[in-house]
Amino acid sequence: MERRVRVRFAPSPTGPLHMGGVRTALFNYLFAKKQGGDFLLRIEDTDQNRYVPGAEDYIIESLKWCGLVPDEGVGFGGECGPYRQSERKAIYKQYADYLINQGFAYFAFDTAEELDTLRKQAEAEKQVFSYDLHTRNGLKNSLTLSPGEITDRLQRGEHYVVRFKMPENRDIVEEDLIRGRVSFNTNQLDDKVLFKSDGMPTYHLANVVDDHLMQITHVIRGEEWLSSMPLHILLYESLGWAETRPRFSHLPLILKPEGKGKLSKRDGDKLGFPVFPLLWKDPETGEYSRGYREDGYFPEAFINMLALLGWNSGTEQEFFSIDELIEVFDLSRVVKSGARFDPEKAKWFNRHYLQLKSAQELAELFKPELVSKGIVVDDHKLETIVSKIKDRCEFVKDLWAQSCYFFVAPETYDEKTVKSKWKSDTSEKLLVLADFFETVADWEADAIKEEFSAFMASKEWGFGAVMVPVRLALVGTSTGPDLFEILELVGKEEAIGRIKTAISKIQ
Ligand code: GLU
Repeated sequence: MERRVRVRFAPSPTGPLHMGGVRTALFNYLFAKKQGGDFLLRIEDTDQNRYVPGAEDYIIESLKWCGLVPDEGVGFGGECGPYRQSERKAIYKQYADYLINQGFAYFAFDTAEELDTLRKQAEAEKQVFSYDLHTRNGLKNSLTLSPGEITDRLQRGEHYVVRFKMPENRDIVEEDLIRGRVSFNTNQLDDKVLFKSDGMPTYHLANVVDDHLMQITHVIRGEEWLSSMPLHILLYESLGWAETRPRFSHLPLILKPEGKGKLSKRDGDKLGFPVFPLLWKDPETGEYSRGYREDGYFPEAFINMLALLGWNSGTEQEFFSIDELIEVFDLSRVVKSGARFDPEKAKWFNRHYLQLKSAQELAELFKPELVSKGIVVDDHKLETIVSKIKDRCEFVKDLWAQSCYFFVAPETYDEKTVKSKWKSDTSEKLLVLADFFETVADWEADAIKEEFSAFMASKEWGFGAVMVPVRLALVGTSTGPDLFEILELVGKEEAIGRIKTAISKIQ
C-alpha cells in the first residue's frame, strides 16, 4: 500500500530562523502539498543549553507570515503529539534501553575531563581523538567494564552517556533524492552519543524515534545533516524500522552573494540585507537583526526568491505563486551545488509583486504613513496618485519618496536641474504662465494640456523652456509622471502658488 506522504520541518529553537531554514520549510511544504501529504512542525529542543527564549514563537510566526502553515505540530495540533521533543522525554528512554539490550549501544562513563585530556593528547600528536571502534575498547564503558562494575556505577547514579556502537566496516549506501547515490564506510564514523543520564536524548536518537513515530516518509533537510544520515539509517535498522524508514534528501547550502562560503547569520548586518524572515531582538544582548518582513518585503516575494535558491523549474519562468510552485516543484530539480544568494534579486522580486498589487491595495498599505504625517487625502485621489507612481517603487516605503510632492510643496530644488534649466528669462516666463493657469477653467490633465499647447503656440515658446522649470517648481526635481497629471492632482491654486514660490526662491 502507498503510504501517505508526511514530511516535517524540525528546527531547534536556538535563535531566530535563518532564511536557509525557511527554504527547508518551504521545500518540505511544497513536496508535501504536491502529493497531497502532510507538513509537520516539530521543535527539536533536546539541547537545553542552546535553548533561546522566544525562538520557538519566532519560528511559528515566521512560518505563518510565509504562508507555510503546518498541518500538525507545535501550535497546530495533530494526532502524533506532543511535537516538542522536551515534552517527549519519557518516550526516548525505552529505545535507548532497547538498543543497549540488543547490543547496538553501550553505556560510557568517561568524564568530560578524561575525554578532554585524550583530545588534547591527540592534538599534540597532530591527530584527532574520536570515540570509535579503534578507541572504545580502551575506554570506560560497558564494553570494557565488568557487569558488576557497570551495575555499581549505574546504582551510584554516576553520569553516563549511551553511545551507538558503530559496526565495523560496513558500507552504507543510500539514494539521496537530490544527490543520488551517496555512500559511507562505518570505519570512518564515530560512536555518537544517543542519550544522557539526565534522561535527555541527543538529536540523533530523538530525531529518528520521532520520524518513525510520526510516520515521516521523507526527510528533506540541509546539507549539514548529510553526515548524520548513515547513523540514522543504522538506527532505523537497529530499532527494527528499516522497512518503513524515510527517504532522504539533502538541500544545497545557500552561499554568500560573492559566491564563496555559506551565508551566515552575521552576513546580513555586514552586507546590508536581512538573513532572517522577521526582525529579531536578541534576548541577551538586546541587539536587533533585520527581517524581510520589517524591511518591507512581501511574503510572496520572499518565498518566490527562496524557491529559486537551489531549485529551478527547467524553464525560463521565474515568477511563481505558491500554488504554481506546489504544482511544478520536484526534488529532482534541486541542485547539488551551493546556491548563491543575490540580495538585488530579492528586491527585484519585491518590485514585481508590488506591481501586481492594485492601486487600492497599495493605497491601504500607504495610508498609515500618511496618517502619521498628518496628511488627509481622499481614497480616490490617493489611489490615482499611487497608480501614477507605483512603477517607480520596489517597496511600500518608496511610495512616500515618490509621491510626497502631491501632498506637500517641495522645500528645495534640485541644484543641477536649476543650473541647467533655469535660464535668465525663466522666471519672467513662469510668471506669465502662472497668470495663464489662472484662466484655465477645466483643471483636468487633458484639458490643461490642450489649453497649454495653444498658449505656448501663441507665445511661440518652446516646450523645453518651461516644462522642466514648472516640474521643478511642483516636484523639486526633474522626475515624476506626466506633468499635466501632476498639475491636475496638485490642484490649481496650489500649483500656481508653487510656481510663484519657486520664482521667488530660485531668483
Ligand atoms: N533539529 C535539526 C535542525 O535544527 C533538524 C535536522 C533534521 O531535519 O533532521 O536543523
